[in-house]
Amino acid sequence: MTYQGSGSFKPSARAWQVYRQKCKLCGRVCYGEYCKPCEYTLFQIDHIIQLYLQGTPPENMDDAIAEFDRIYYSNMSLRVFYNSACEAVHYALLSPSSPFELVEPNFSSIPQPKVISILEESGIISKQGEELYAGEMLKKLIRLRLSGLALSSEELLKQLRIVYAVLTLRMTKTLLQHEEFIPQIVVGIFRVVSIHIMQHMDSENIPKEIPQSSWNNGFKGMNAREVGHIEWDLLGMTPNTSPRIFADYNPDREQFVSKDCMIYYYEYIRDRIRERERERQRQVQ
Ligand SMILES: [Zn+2]
Repeated sequence: MTYQGSGSFKPSARAWQVYRQKCKLCGRVCYGEYCKPCEYTLFQIDHIIQLYLQGTPPENMDDAIAEFDRIYYSNMSLRVFYNSACEAVHYALLSPSSPFELVEPNFSSIPQPKVISILEESGIISKQGEELYAGEMLKKLIRLRLSGLALSSEELLKQLRIVYAVLTLRMTKTLLQHEEFIPQIVVGIFRVVSIHIMQHMDSENIPKEIPQSSWNNGFKGMNAREVGHIEWDLLGMTPNTSPRIFADYNPDREQFVSKDCMIYYYEYIRDRIRERERERQRQVQ
């Protein structure tokens, strides 16, 4: 508190000191535990997990969610969690009730038991003694999304992408709860989306063009090399991949041009945020 010398405290300075703090996730100055872009990022992650594990996702949602299937790819230090989850999906698909051994966790600077425990806590694997099996969450996703589809079918490929996306988000949630390994690249992508939604919170339609400034803002302070990699990857410039989330980049206007399926996602999340804000206001009144 700032003592003014006249026996009174300056209220504005006092409020500033009491309420201003650093966002737990990105370090931006904010007035709560998280800044707004991070708050909306956590909301997106929670909402998608809940929708795909307990709810009935709207049909148009599937196309957008599949776009989040490989966002760990550029998160080089934490890619081991994603690779290990993909390996578990592979075994669970081919031989659902047999134990398996994961090889991927052995190839990382993160200790193998740590990788196993994060996957276990996320419901991707379960441990019985020393043996590993498919976890409850993974079994549920396979039952809901993949059962009965031929391995070569187009539909399986699409559903598999959705499964990878949901696993990605479930793992991200576990990692965020532990606060030891923060998947900043994954969080950064959702933060860019949050910033884009915030800029169009009151408009009817959200444009597909995301300005470079929103992108930079979402990834502010992060490892430049990893941000470069995610940019190449999402724009489809990595060998053997096609673009994700974005269809193009407009260099004249410095804009990332989203795929059409993402507009539905942006507006859907915006509507859920609006509903939540209205609900909060009702509770205050
Ligand atoms: Zn933040």
